[in-house]
Amino acid sequence: MATINDNYLKLKAGYLFPEIARRVNAFAQTNPDASIIKLGIGDVTEPLPEACRTAMIKAVEDMGDRATFKGYGPEQGYSWLREKIATQDFQARGCEIDAGEIFISDGSKCDTGNILDIFGSNNTIAVTDPVYPVYVDTNVMAGNTGSANDAGEFEGLVYLPISAENNFTAEIPSQKVDLIYLCFPNNPTGATASKDYLKTWVDYANSHGSIILFDAAYEAFITEPDLPHSIYEIEGARNCAIEFRSFSKNAGFTGTRCALTVVPKTLTGKAADGSDVELWKLWNRRQSTKFNGVSYLVQRGAEAVYSEAGQGQVKALVSFYLENAKIIREQLTEAGLAVYGGINAPYIWLKTPNELSSWDFFDKLLQTTNIVGTPGSGFGAAGEGYFRISAFNSRENVNEAMKRILEKFKV
Ligand SMILES: *Cc1c(COP(=O)(O)O)cnc(C)c1O
Repeated sequence: MATINDNYLKLKAGYLFPEIARRVNAFAQTNPDASIIKLGIGDVTEPLPEACRTAMIKAVEDMGDRATFKGYGPEQGYSWLREKIATQDFQARGCEIDAGEIFISDGSKCDTGNILDIFGSNNTIAVTDPVYPVYVDTNVMAGNTGSANDAGEFEGLVYLPISAENNFTAEIPSQKVDLIYLCFPNNPTGATASKDYLKTWVDYANSHGSIILFDAAYEAFITEPDLPHSIYEIEGARNCAIEFRSFSKNAGFTGTRCALTVVPKTLTGKAADGSDVELWKLWNRRQSTKFNGVSYLVQRGAEAVYSEAGQGQVKALVSFYLENAKIIREQLTEAGLAVYGGINAPYIWLKTPNELSSWDFFDKLLQTTNIVGTPGSGFGAAGEGYFRISAFNSRENVNEAMKRILEKFKV
């Protein structure tokens, strides 16, 4: 009899989004005339930039001609794309990242999970609480944790609480941790990290031999000039950090699929015999063995993000969502709610009024305004009492949703 990976049985059965769907469906059934607006999901709504579409159509034509047809591409991605990323995303910001250190993939969700393939099973792993659930669940699947308690916290993980009290930036742990997941601008809180703050993590990691797994999926949403866009803007990060980036949120590639992971060649980890091994070599081996690269068509689409037209179109797309975020922030504040984020991120994180639990606020919002958001407790125990509103929607829906909230909530 084949056995299974029992670690999967420890997972908290993908509770959050199915439970939201269940409650929304139940409400819609008893209130068939309600016009429900969904401000819950972290998916983009606006179409792909024209530059990307044009490049992909041209790439389809390339595939139809024997002279330009492409079979398997390099597992690491085409060099014409990696070069543009290296110069425009990194070197232009003073980061010493070479094209050879960039690996193109089909998503940051996949990469943040897959990266565990190259790490040992005895690392102490730290995550913030609340957190993007993928970091936790992939560690559970890999057997890096024990079981979950009633609050959903897994034994063996180090949870670093973030809340309004610490500006949604985790304090440096007092104990030694080996792997640290950081995400800035943050999903779900919309919080950002200053250079000084990231420097404290880089220094901590370098002095303890830890690796920072830095998720910069929302980098394009940074509006404030002094905030770092990459962890490699911090001195010493080439010795302690892997960075994940994605075309999902800046260029609307959630359904098209393209992302990248940076593994500097200066980064090492310890082997069982005590020797230092380059992580780049391991990730390169992992990708070459388990991955066959991203579609040529998609990589041509991603390349177009770096053209002059593409840059303008991506900027317009991001500005559109940021304007939504601004409207949400201002209107929720006007309604008397305490709000965070939404300035350098497409998410607004609010404190539920009157000490309501995250789910009680979810029900109240749905019943009184027919608006769907995401309960903060779904992102971790310390998210209890908070609620996430997404700016990924049409202007019309955002305006209508805020009008309803003002009517019901303003005191
Ligand atoms: C959306 C998102 C990503 C991007 O994932 P893809 O697989 O590239 O679409 C990565 N990290 C976080 C925290 C996200 O919210």
